[in-house]
Amino acid sequence: MSPKKMENFKPATVAAQAAGLLDDATGGVVPPIHPATTFVRDDNYEPAVDGNVYSRSHAPNGQMAEKILAQLEGAADAMVFPSGMAAVAAVFRTLATGASVLVQSQIYWGTTAWIRDFCARRDITLIEVEAADTASFQAACAEHKPALAWVETPSNPWLRIVDLQACAQAVHAAGGVLVADLTTATPIITQGLSFGADIVMHSATKALNGHSDVLAGALSCRDAQSDIWQAIRNDRNAAGAVLGPFEAWLLMRGMRTLPLRVERMSANAMKLAEYLSDHPSVETVLYPGLPTHDGHALASQQMKGGYGSLVSFVVKGGAEKALGAVKRLQLFHPATSLGGVESLVEHRHTIEPHTGIPEGLLRMSVGIEDAGDLIDDLAQALGQ
Ligand SMILES: *Cc1c(COP(=O)(O)O)cnc(C)c1O
Repeated sequence: MSPKKMENFKPATVAAQAAGLLDDATGGVVPPIHPATTFVRDDNYEPAVDGNVYSRSHAPNGQMAEKILAQLEGAADAMVFPSGMAAVAAVFRTLATGASVLVQSQIYWGTTAWIRDFCARRDITLIEVEAADTASFQAACAEHKPALAWVETPSNPWLRIVDLQACAQAVHAAGGVLVADLTTATPIITQGLSFGADIVMHSATKALNGHSDVLAGALSCRDAQSDIWQAIRNDRNAAGAVLGPFEAWLLMRGMRTLPLRVERMSANAMKLAEYLSDHPSVETVLYPGLPTHDGHALASQQMKGGYGSLVSFVVKGGAEKALGAVKRLQLFHPATSLGGVESLVEHRHTIEPHTGIPEGLLRMSVGIEDAGDLIDDLAQALGQ
């Protein structure tokens, strides 16, 4: 009952069949939860099973989630973490004091805020650049020779599209590595490693788990022998940012429906973006699926099967009108986060007023509900 070879199957099959994992002890079609923190040794005082010693380094449920993710991502290896930010931190902790890093401006605010603080404390030169402007990114790479560049596409909440292939070439030419946060795209829509990224990061709290009930993060790599990947693995083993077995099991369960959820969320998001584009109370809609979006052509090459669940739009009349609409929405919960089965809406200016977010901007995470119901809700909230 060993896992079947899954490499030749499409993502929907790999995910639904949990990459071939079963419960070997019972024949159950669902892999079990392994809560043990420690593992016995045999008569020769060798680890009795699979080299397992202690769950900071050997976490069977984490390994199951990693196996599924690595196949969906086309990765050589994957690692899960107790949050997306723990994965971000694991990457940055590999940098030497005095290094230079390039980070895309106007990305997920939690990442920007933590990186600024970390780099200041560690004497790391931080260069922030609008990476969706490829020429600026290339110039910054040539000038600063960063050890690492960090990009996010589509960016949250601006929905800017970064040319992964061009950015990878530029940072590689400068001797550095490219790390791409593809939380909003998911591996179903964009396999970042195939575009030249060295490491792909996901907040697994979002679409990978998809049910707003697990906090988790993930990294995937193209080369498991690379120095940075080895350093991250050593850091996780030694510093202990390990995802617990129950969370890892829930994440694995969530990922089994990822392709289906991403398909529906993206189709719904496209319908809502089109509806809002025609709405008299809406100033602009930011969604890469719209032909009017600056990054549409690039997104169409880099994203397949849809453009993701995140849609931002600017309501005419600023903060007051935007917050008024939020209050009237019945189906969209006013809450942060994204990528879950239920639709959410957020007034980002309230959260990050200092980052240049338009006061009327609302960011929606579109769920898997009926698109007609969601459009009716937007219609009554915006007044039509
Ligand atoms: C949520 C998010 C993160 C942080 O992940 P957590 O799981 O909340 O720690 C990082 N990047 C993006 C794009 C996110 O949306």
